[in-house]
Amino acid sequence: MSVSKKSLQIQKTYEALFALEDIREVFRQSLPTGFSPAEQEEFSKDLSRIKNIIAELESGQGKPSCNRIGKLDARTREEEFINIHPIQAAGRLTPEARKAVISYGDGYSTCDYCRKPFRLDKITRPPIEEFHQSLAKFLNMDQARVVPGARRGFQAVTQSLVEKGDSVIVSALAHYTEFLAVEVAGGVVKEVPLSENNIVTGEAVARKIEEVKKETGKLPKLIMIDHFDYQFANEHDVCGIGKVARDYGIPFLYNGAYTVGIMPVDGKKFGADFIVGSGHKSMAAAAPSGVLATTDEWAPRVFRTTQMVGDLTSRKFGVKEVENMGCTLMGATLLSMIASFPRVQERTARWDEEVKKSNYFLEQFQRIEGSRVLSQWPRKHTLTKVDTTGSFDVVAKTHKRRGFFFSDELKERGIIGEFAGATRTWKLNTYGLNWEQIKYISDAFIEIAKKYNLNVN
Ligand SMILES: *Cc1c(COP(=O)(O)O)cnc(C)c1O
Repeated sequence: MSVSKKSLQIQKTYEALFALEDIREVFRQSLPTGFSPAEQEEFSKDLSRIKNIIAELESGQGKPSCNRIGKLDARTREEEFINIHPIQAAGRLTPEARKAVISYGDGYSTCDYCRKPFRLDKITRPPIEEFHQSLAKFLNMDQARVVPGARRGFQAVTQSLVEKGDSVIVSALAHYTEFLAVEVAGGVVKEVPLSENNIVTGEAVARKIEEVKKETGKLPKLIMIDHFDYQFANEHDVCGIGKVARDYGIPFLYNGAYTVGIMPVDGKKFGADFIVGSGHKSMAAAAPSGVLATTDEWAPRVFRTTQMVGDLTSRKFGVKEVENMGCTLMGATLLSMIASFPRVQERTARWDEEVKKSNYFLEQFQRIEGSRVLSQWPRKHTLTKVDTTGSFDVVAKTHKRRGFFFSDELKERGIIGEFAGATRTWKLNTYGLNWEQIKYISDAFIEIAKKYNLNVN
């Protein structure tokens, strides 16, 4: 199948999907008793349009379609390309999630059967309450809530535990959202330095705690460390850090933005008091989504309910949780998370295979002389920082498109997602690619190297 035929078929698929939405709208505008003559006519018109589109979809022939939605282009990257974007790989929706999104896209769609006590995590239809229990179990924690992104999980914890001037231990590779979560609570970040191989160890955390104690006279209020960081995706010593946290009696927030939803995560094993995950980064869910899980010990603090009383009306809103502003993900975001969950659970068991594919690709990549892996090697993750200063960047120096020559070459081969124009240090993620795709991208990198006379070993 030629690329252009596939491309046209993708366009036709979107055209058909959009036309079906137009039919859906006719239903929404009609009376419960059925269509008016005008509606019947519109329905028939849409239907025959769809039949034509389907015929074109089948043959792969026809006029390219303009699938614009007002000012928006239809997004077809995932259909047209192999996407190796560092942060997008494990947030790609499953087909189940995409179906949930079109079905539950309306605003407060989770609330059809919301009954007392009127809280999102208590809704039984759709089975949102059950999902919360499954989430807690999945992470081997006692309680869980969905949150609008990992960052909002950090924030709920910092705002519950950290007071003005308090120190919070983070790593020297901490994500910006961890800084902001400490800042919004009035705290101060204290960064743990890295070992020479860019790893955060339990001993380094202990040393930093001692330093903070000496400097401020107080222990830090919270330790917040990423299992795999966003820069190298190196594995940090979360078990050792959990132990240090316990020894000092400081709560430990395990940042699983790059683990929860792609590999097995066991909160008890890590000695975590809090586990935070990102739905849109690693759980095949729409944005913004995430999870915050904790123990029965900490739940009353972080999931505390409102105490506020109206001075005029004396109104109280008893069960609403303050940090969650009552309810969090009220529509397609949550339903996409729920719809993906069975597959997400299943895929975490296949993490070793994902790592194997990542290593296979990078072995091929390193055959190109001057190409290096900056992350720990062999890889324990699918996200990797690479350095092509000695290979593709040498070509870029004299190429008229500069660094863009590389993105051009990749794109021509149907590969997208590397930072366009970057040929020195950059990141890529192979998560979710099947072996055929892995071999395809490996060959493509080698082919591009050879085209520009780089040595391939
Ligand atoms: C992506 C990322 C976050 C932020 O996740 P959101 O769900 O987008 O809030 C936090 N920490 C790390 C380490 C990340 O990689």
